[in-house]
Amino acid sequence: MTALRQALESLKEIIRDTDADGSEPDWIACYVLKCGRAALRLKKEISDDEFSAMLKIAKERATGRSLSQVLGYTEFLGLEISVNENVLCPRPETELLAEQAILFLKDKKNARALDLCTGSGCIAIALSVFSKAEICASDISEKALETAKKNAEKHNAEIEFVLSDAFDGVSGKFDLIVSNPPYIPSKDIEGLDREVKDFEPRLALDGGEDGLDFYRIIAANADKYLKDGGALMLECGQGQARDIIKMLSGFDCAIVNDLQGIERIVKAVKKSVR
Ligand code: GLN
Repeated sequence: MTALRQALESLKEIIRDTDADGSEPDWIACYVLKCGRAALRLKKEISDDEFSAMLKIAKERATGRSLSQVLGYTEFLGLEISVNENVLCPRPETELLAEQAILFLKDKKNARALDLCTGSGCIAIALSVFSKAEICASDISEKALETAKKNAEKHNAEIEFVLSDAFDGVSGKFDLIVSNPPYIPSKDIEGLDREVKDFEPRLALDGGEDGLDFYRIIAANADKYLKDGGALMLECGQGQARDIIKMLSGFDCAIVNDLQGIERIVKAVKKSVR
């Protein structure tokens, strides 16, 4: 037996050179003990097997892979989403994007929504589970789509998945196009945390020279793929929102900040033609 407090200290020490925040030892312990964080507070001692399972995870985490990748899953709006080296790990900012999209779809009848660059499928699955809209999701990576399909099956989410470079394989018109596209300027990728630059797919990160390549493609195609009154909801990087809005003439635009106060989401509603 080992005292839990002492075990948590050992885990903290092992992952000290990663970008882990102070809560990760707790999450590792919760995973191994199959309990929530509140229940963890009540535990005093753990078995030797439990301790070695925790040490194993912490050592893998110390190589620089994110905890989600080591454990193979994360949570997105309360939904378990499997992740691997072929998909971007869903981020809390993206939950905000999905929430905004769900609100937009809430009162619409027979709505169709498209999730471009679906990656793990997290946004498309959340839209399918929490709205009545018909969902289509596309990605250029076959391996990402494989992961997204498995995630969708797990949640009984009926989604039409399309292997497609941006809009290439997509057809029809949508009430909503939502996307968290790759938006890191190519030259900034080397400066990211190793958890991201070494272990997440470059395809999911690289947004071209100024990071805005995908927004240009989306802006150029929005008219063709959106119904009148339809909307775009796009996640973006710090400082990009206003440049994106400039690309969207013919749209009423608004910006939503994330919890850190960063301009994170561009909402753009297509003006109706009179
Ligand atoms: N749509 C996925 C997500 O938001 C993947 C995004 C991406 O690969 N850029 O997590």
